[in-house]
Amino acid sequence: MNETRRVQTPPHVNVAIVGAGPAGLAAASAAVAQGASVAVIDSAEQPGGQFWRHRSEAAGVTDDGAFHHGWSDYLRLRASFDEGVASGSIRYLPSTSVWFARQLTDSRFALELAPSHGSGTAAIPSLRASKLVLATGGYDRQLPVPGWDLPGVMAAGGIQAFVKQNGMLPGSRFVIAGTGPFLLPVAANIVQAGGSVAAVCEAASLAGWIPRAHRAAGVPSKALEGGEYAAAFLRHRIPYRTRTVITEILGTDRVEAVRTARVNARGALVSGSSRLIEGIDGVGLGWGFTPQMELPVQLGVETRVDTDGSLVGVVDGVGRSSVPGLFLAGELTGVGGAVLAVLEGRIAGRAAGQKPLARPRTQLPPRLPLPSVAASPGSAPSQMPCTARIPCPKAGKTE
Ligand SMILES: Cc1cc2nc3c(=O)[nH]c(=O)nc-3n(C[C@H](O)[C@H](O)[C@H](O)COP(=O)(O)OP(=O)(O)OC[C@H]3O[C@@H](n4cnc5c(N)ncnc54)[C@H](O)[C@@H]3O)c2cc1C
Repeated sequence: MNETRRVQTPPHVNVAIVGAGPAGLAAASAAVAQGASVAVIDSAEQPGGQFWRHRSEAAGVTDDGAFHHGWSDYLRLRASFDEGVASGSIRYLPSTSVWFARQLTDSRFALELAPSHGSGTAAIPSLRASKLVLATGGYDRQLPVPGWDLPGVMAAGGIQAFVKQNGMLPGSRFVIAGTGPFLLPVAANIVQAGGSVAAVCEAASLAGWIPRAHRAAGVPSKALEGGEYAAAFLRHRIPYRTRTVITEILGTDRVEAVRTARVNARGALVSGSSRLIEGIDGVGLGWGFTPQMELPVQLGVETRVDTDGSLVGVVDGVGRSSVPGLFLAGELTGVGGAVLAVLEGRIAGRAAGQKPLARPRTQLPPRLPLPSVAASPGSAPSQMPCTARIPCPKAGKTE
């Protein structure tokens, strides 16, 4: 007997959003506010993304936000998101990964979905959307070092994620190494959770970013955050060693010690500066963040290399990429942190949720003057708006 296969038509929404981190949550509420039907797909079990990763709601644990910054912002965004889900405006698909995305000939987007853990098929294996907002965030950049495959060695962000999600540490005494201000909250989270930090090894000299620290004054919460870390370092006597790298991670079955050395301004090891730090059971390595670009690249967006060497998506002032109907928000447009991710998500979600302008029923009188975009031959018109084809440079995003 011939078996007839029933082909189900994939569900359609006005706006699909991939990622329920700061950018995705903000985008969802903004798109709903425009009257759009929205689907939010996220590989994590619960909303929050990396910055607001928290204790398991499924296990009934209430997170008091002790390991978080901007927790009240999250609660506000979350309340609005939950409202959208309850009213049916947002279809939330947690624990679901978008493994393939393409644009169809009718310009809609097709998203292929799979469970993010384990085998089987997703509740909705395929989805169609008129507009797509990608807010897939980023991950810790890593550089290999001998011994980095020993148990106990983790990404610095991985240690922080472990603490935020489980309220406990994956070890007791750590060395944190790499570069950038993110090493500070990781060390602070460790001591806050009851562990100790034998050293934070920063490969750069502070001459790189401390002179720009005053710019945090524009984001008072970040200045406050910096002050908190300084206080935690002093209180817990955490050694902060600049121009220092881990050259080797040592141990038999798991990490037991690290060898560090000083580096000069060109990154070369300074001879005679080797030092052994023993009695540790955890190492966190982090060399900054880099955006999760698989889906934007699959869809063919225009990209550029950012000042930190990361590949990022080119967008205009409202997050529109070079692919019509496709918006990018958060770390995908350049690593800039959660505050900026929320703002970008809100702007992109709002633009994506807007209905296309109706065609005017009557022709404009021909004598109406056209806006002047005249320019000297070979130069760009000075008043040209930012469009998908003429992207605006992202102001003040990274330095
Ligand atoms: C481990 C880690 C820890 C961090 N901690 C800090 C910190 O303490 N302070 C700070 O200022 N910044 C931190 N950051 C930087 C942080 O990522 C940003 O500041 C902020 O979270 C960016 O928001 P976002 O919405 O762009 O991305 P994210 O918060 O990263 O959210 C992206 C979401 O997209 C989902 N996703 C990705 N790909 C797919 C896919 N294919 N299908 C379905 N879902 C997908 C992910 O599950 C995730 O929930 C951290 C980053 C990482 C990686």
